[in-house]
Amino acid sequence: MIKFYREGDESRGPCSACKMIVSTTFKVTTVPLASGKGKVEGVLAAICNQCENVVSVPQQSTARIRESIFGQKRSVEVRIPKHLRDVLLTVCHAIATDSKCTEIEPFVIRYYMAQIAHGKLKASSLKKYLKSRLSEGRANDRISLKISDQVLNQFERKIKMIKLTRTEAIKAIILQAKMDVLDKAAPRRLREIVLSASAA
Ligand SMILES: [Zn+2]
Repeated sequence: MIKFYREGDESRGPCSACKMIVSTTFKVTTVPLASGKGKVEGVLAAICNQCENVVSVPQQSTARIRESIFGQKRSVEVRIPKHLRDVLLTVCHAIATDSKCTEIEPFVIRYYMAQIAHGKLKASSLKKYLKSRLSEGRANDRISLKISDQVLNQFERKIKMIKLTRTEAIKAIILQAKMDVLDKAAPRRLREIVLSASAA
């Protein structure tokens, strides 16, 4: 059972700065991440009464910390040709016939961006789609979505290695989705996208 603490509650624990067991008070503070990369604000933690060091972070704060690491979203907008947006909307319609296609769009793009970010889909496999006639044309339409900072950064790193711009990569993703879902090359992906959409 998780023990929940309130601000002002008192406890005891080993302070790494005082090098002894100290009495602590729960306060809302900024805690450093265990990885050493970054800090999370507004977290309830046990603070050493002698030196103000963070002695421990209770289990109840874990969800909030995860949220701040994985939950930060960045907006992405790319301009694409209208016919390519039609391809994407048609893919969305095939995935969820009973939902509005525009609502499914971000899930489809995010799914593929995450697959590339996590190395489940090779970024280099996208390049072939840029030779397609469908990838060309005046950019007179656009798609926008929100994606976690972490996924976006990894995605950008992967596509930079093969010298693709974000717009090129997203155009290629749409054609990959067409291949998988409409041309039925990987129908399993369809199920995964539906699951990721319904989990959100
Ligand atoms: Zn201390």
